[in-house]
Amino acid sequence: MKIKILGCHGSELPGYHLCCFLINDSFVLDAGAITSTLPFSKQKEIKHILITHPHLDHIKDIAFLADNIQSAPSAPINLISSQEALDIIKAHLLNNKIWPDFTKLPDPKHPILKYHPIKNNTPAKIDGLEIMTIKVNHVVPTVAYLLSDHDSTVMFSADTGATEEIWQVANKTKNLKAIFIDTAFPNKMQDIADKSKHLTPKGLKTEIEKLNKNVEIFCYHKKSTLIKEINKELKELCPQIKTIKEGQTLIF
Ligand SMILES: [Zn+2]
Ligand SMILES: [Zn+2]
Repeated sequence: MKIKILGCHGSELPGYHLCCFLINDSFVLDAGAITSTLPFSKQKEIKHILITHPHLDHIKDIAFLADNIQSAPSAPINLISSQEALDIIKAHLLNNKIWPDFTKLPDPKHPILKYHPIKNNTPAKIDGLEIMTIKVNHVVPTVAYLLSDHDSTVMFSADTGATEEIWQVANKTKNLKAIFIDTAFPNKMQDIADKSKHLTPKGLKTEIEKLNKNVEIFCYHKKSTLIKEINKELKELCPQIKTIKEGQTLIF
C-alpha cells in the first residue's frame, strides 16, 4: 500500500497542513489538505474520499476539490463514511448555504460528488481496497479505518480519546503493518484532551499497552503550535512511536 502524507497536523500553519493521506493514488483519507498540496492533475485522479468524521479540519477540501473538479468532471467522487457522518456533511456543508450541493451539480444524474455510506465492522471492497470502519471515542460520530490491499493492512485511528475496539481489531488482524494514531495535545492539556476526546502522550502510552503485537505506530493530528512539547513527551513516554513528515511517501 502506498501512502503519501499530504497533511498530518491537528491545526494549520504555513508548512503544517491538516490531516489528509493519499492512498494508492485514487483514495484520500480525510480531506484536510487536498487542494493546497496536490497539483490539479493529481486531484483529478481522486475517486474516493474516506471521511473519519465531519469536523471541519477533516472535510474542508471536499468543498474545494468539488469546485476544482467542475472544470473536468468524470465519474462522481465517492464520499465514504458512516451514514451519520454523511448526514452531518449533507446538512451542514453541502447544503446550498455554506457551499453548493455538489451531489446534485452540475446535474443530479451526473454529479461531482456522491454519498457512499458504509456500515461499521463490515468490510467493503471498493476499487482494490478492503475497507472496514470501527467506531471510536470522539465528540461527534467518528470512525477509524482498517484498510487492506493485496500487500498489507493499515489502521488509521481518527480523532479519538481512550478506546477499546480498535485495539481488539488490531490484535486479531493478520498482516497489520502500521497504525496511525491521534496525539493532539501535550500532557499539560490533559483536561482539554479529555473534554475534546483526543489523546496526549500519557494517554497514548496507556492505549498502546492494549496492543499485543509488534506493529509500527505513527502519531498524527498533533496541534502545530504545540508540536515541540508533544514530540519531547512522546520521546520520553513512547520511544517506539515513529514520526511522519508531510510530503513523505510510505510503502507498506
Ligand atoms: Zn475531531
Ligand atoms: Zn481533527
